[in-house]
Order: sequence, then C-alpha cells, then structure tokens
Amino acid sequence: MRSYKTKAIIIKQYEVGEADRIIVAFSRDLGLITLSARGVRKILAKLKGHLELFNYSWLLIHKSSHGSIDTIIGAETIHPFKKLRLSLESTSRVYLISEFLNRILPEREEHQEIFKLLFYALKEIENEIKRERRLIISSYFLLRAIKELGYSPHFRECIRCQASLKQGGNYFDLGGAGTVCPECSAISEREFQARLKFISDGALVGLRILSENKGLKLSKIRAKREILEEMANLIENYVEYILEAELKSRKFIKQVD
Ligand SMILES: [Zn+2]
Repeated sequence: MRSYKTKAIIIKQYEVGEADRIIVAFSRDLGLITLSARGVRKILAKLKGHLELFNYSWLLIHKSSHGSIDTIIGAETIHPFKKLRLSLESTSRVYLISEFLNRILPEREEHQEIFKLLFYALKEIENEIKRERRLIISSYFLLRAIKELGYSPHFRECIRCQASLKQGGNYFDLGGAGTVCPECSAISEREFQARLKFISDGALVGLRILSENKGLKLSKIRAKREILEEMANLIENYVEYILEAELKSRKFIKQVD
C-alpha cells in the first residue's frame, strides 16, 4: 500500500525552502509523525486550511520509498480548534503543550491515552474563558502525560525517610521525582540542594488531586491564582528536568501574561 489515512492533531509546522512545509502531527493510531506537505503555499492552497496549527484533521499520506519522510496528499478538518487562536494567552498555553509533546515523544510510537488527554485539554482550553482555568488544564495535561510516560511524581510521603508529610516546610526533589520532608531537605549535598523546590501546603494538596484522580472534573477545582501558578511552575520545572532542556514557550507565556 502506497498511501494511508490517519486522524491527527497538527502540533508543529515550519517552512522549508520556497514551497514546502514540514508538519509534525500527533496521530491517535501512529503517535508523533513528521510529514512533508509539498507546495502547500502554491499548488495545494486548498489543503492549507486543513493543516493549520492545532487543527484536528484526517490526513491522507503517501508513503515514501527511499526512507525520506512521507508526504501529505490530502487533508480534511474534523475540528479546527479555532477559538484557541483568538487569545494570545490560550495560544501560549497550547504552545507549551505542543512543545512538550514534540520534545518528549519518539517518532511513530502509539500513545492513545496521551492523544485522548491532548484532545480533552484542547477542547477545555478552547472553551474556558478564565486564565486560571486554563492554567489548571495545562498542569493537569502535563502531569497526566508524564505519568503515562513513566515519570510519575510522588506527592504523599517523604521519598527519603518515608515519613508522612506534615504541614509546612516541604520540598519537591526534581531528581527524586517526589516530596521531601523538612528534616530530609536539610541534607547538605550541593547537588541534592540544587534539585529541591519549595512546595506550599496549598500547592501540595492541589498536585495530589490533579495527579491521583483520573477523569477528574477540572471545573470543580477551586484555588487561588498564586497556588495555581506555583503548581504549574513546579510541574514545568519537573518536565524540564526530565527533558534536560528548557521549554521555550514558558518565556512566551511570561511575556503575554
Ligand atoms: Zn524525610
């Protein structure tokens, strides 16, 4: 078979040369796929509207024969997620999610749970009016996705001495992927100290709720903006630690905030 069809969300695109475009799409069945769309700007102008960033589309793909990347030969929008592009703030949140997926997922490895999560997050961000709500959604997405990929963080006992955490003075160890009690956080190894992030009681409770409840009704979560920001920062720091790289879109978010 020389061609195949798949449903996918466009999560990255960039131009190459005069008329070619590289599209990175996240497919429900195939995972992350890098494709080329030749002549999108000239000949295939009709296709272009179906390949916009964050579009959910049917893609008809021609299989390449010489190990080069496959080419999109047809596309049709299923859901355009148009409202996502109306506000810079919601766009910046989705940029963060797509940058994360681009960096962490290998090519052509199926991740249906993460696909479902992405679809859910985009729908929720698209329909949420308040910035605080979008912050919860992107934090929830990142947390659930890293769990799916085997980087599950721990927010219950101290990961060093196993004691139950009391209120106040707790930390999160980025390298140990879990919470650390005040006594254990006093260990003076420089490398360990550099990995510690302070975690307030409010953020700790919030992170437990987000990470331990699958299928959670996010609309029911109520928290102060400072707490939501602390939670988001901690998750994003942890993601950067896993990736061993900075997420560029975090800077963009700070600029538009
Ligand atoms: Zn401890």
